Amino acid sequence: MANHGSNGSSDDLTFPLEIPPAKIRFTKLFIGGEFVDSVSGKTFETIDPRTGETIARVSEGDKEDIDLAVGAARRAFDHGPWPRLPGAARAKIMHKFADLIDQHIEELATLDTLNAGKLFSWGKAVDIPSVANTLRYFAGAADKIHGQVLKMSRELHAYTLLEPIGVVGLIIPWNFPSTMFFVKVSPALAAGCTMVVKPAEQTPLSALFYAHLAKEGIPDGVINVVSGYGPTAGAALTSHMNVDKVSFTGSTEVGRKVMQAAAASNLKTVSLELGGKSPLLIFDDADIDQAADLALLGVMHNKGEVCVAGSRVLVQEAIYDEFVKTLVEKAKEWVVGDPFHPNSRVGPQVDKKQYEKVMSYIEHGKREGATLLTGGKPAAKKGYYKTGFYIQPTVFTDVKDMMISRDEIFGPVMALMKFKTIEEGIKYANNTKYGLASGIVTKSLDIANTVSRSIKAGVVWINCYHGFDIDCPFGGYKMSGFGKDFGMEALHKYLQTKAVVTPIYNSPWL
Ligand code: NAD
Repeated sequence: MANHGSNGSSDDLTFPLEIPPAKIRFTKLFIGGEFVDSVSGKTFETIDPRTGETIARVSEGDKEDIDLAVGAARRAFDHGPWPRLPGAARAKIMHKFADLIDQHIEELATLDTLNAGKLFSWGKAVDIPSVANTLRYFAGAADKIHGQVLKMSRELHAYTLLEPIGVVGLIIPWNFPSTMFFVKVSPALAAGCTMVVKPAEQTPLSALFYAHLAKEGIPDGVINVVSGYGPTAGAALTSHMNVDKVSFTGSTEVGRKVMQAAAASNLKTVSLELGGKSPLLIFDDADIDQAADLALLGVMHNKGEVCVAGSRVLVQEAIYDEFVKTLVEKAKEWVVGDPFHPNSRVGPQVDKKQYEKVMSYIEHGKREGATLLTGGKPAAKKGYYKTGFYIQPTVFTDVKDMMISRDEIFGPVMALMKFKTIEEGIKYANNTKYGLASGIVTKSLDIANTVSRSIKAGVVWINCYHGFDIDCPFGGYKMSGFGKDFGMEALHKYLQTKAVVTPIYNSPWL
């Protein structure tokens, strides 16, 4: 690793830092246990969002490659050992996989920082250790998969078997390349499925590294990784006749296409983790310091590229003015800088397209009459920031029903609104097509209990935000999708129930 040290002054962040040696070892498709070129021989560029420069060319998978990968997964499912192993044996192999990840934490965190602009310190301390623990959590479930003995209403003896659903297509986005990979792969492995993973075209590097680690123990064909674009490789996977299920995380627009493709092909089951425009409700009795910290964390974490970002902050009127003052001061703590720098809290947006999308929403906010409280500009200072995709943490006040309060921006942009009564707060919070996440800041148990039951979202965080745990089911309401990732519910997405029925001796069964 390069030395990322500094004297700690925030000015340092504007100077070019030493770019760590790009240990990019794996750039080919992973099919049937081998790294291979794409059938077409085509490759695509992958970039470093800190500079906008190309750091590698990666094999570009298309329909033919998806066919090969699904074929390998099908053979591994129909004839290979994985679905037939006792759960405990699958668990042992998954634990080994997790240990291998632990041995490569620094290298994996480097890949996600280089490829997605994620904070290196966070990747090293949180993201990568968590993915190993995700594997371990589901490994713990692999030998506890069982059906039920049924007490039938007639004289029949019956039981259920929980069987792996088959070959699964796992399509993931770029904002948490490692987390998303294992949130899908781990329960699918535990269930005994085989799989084809299609990482986002922006961030294929860590997925290919995980494929390399999988070679140490996971049988060939169980995990296949095909990098490529959504409308080609992704669409081929969702419409494939030999794929039994697709688990998708991404935008609501593409989620709709995934469902359409599944319906038009073999009616494969689908689960969708989609976008959000999540509200954080701050009530009059809140501790203002704590509330401002949570509001900033909610939307600035991972430079706003978080599906659950608390991008609509609703503040009750009695504390509104004081809250705004505190927020402006605290926003300065969200230092924009090189994501390898230990003092940086906001790295670059993932690519030029995302950067331009966020900047255009900021312009919309200004045109629609919202007041720009802080930020609103590219964070182009000295050094190589000029070519990287950095944006200042941005807060708008006086936000009404506008594009910046309706659309998912997926960047460090907060829309601040005021409400009077609890009922009005709930109404504003639910005024969205999405229902992924929400937060409440209050000291009152009554308010917390009432509001959490009234909000239409898959999670309500009370006096915290981004409070994830692998044991806690996560997934949306409304147009944020359906089907949970995390928790035991996730395992059951990759299982199907078979009923086995037999008459009790001499009983009338018809
Ligand atoms: P996206 O929908 O553009 O792409 C997601 C994935 O789908 C990528 O791998 C992409 O290549 C693939 N894809 C694109 N078109 C496809 C098609 N026609 N058929 C099949 N696959 C296709 O989303 P994104 O820009 O990568 O990610 C951002 C979005 O993901 C945001 O809306 C965000 O809220 C959402 N997201 C949701 C969650 C969640 O858990 N709910 C988590 C992270 C991100």
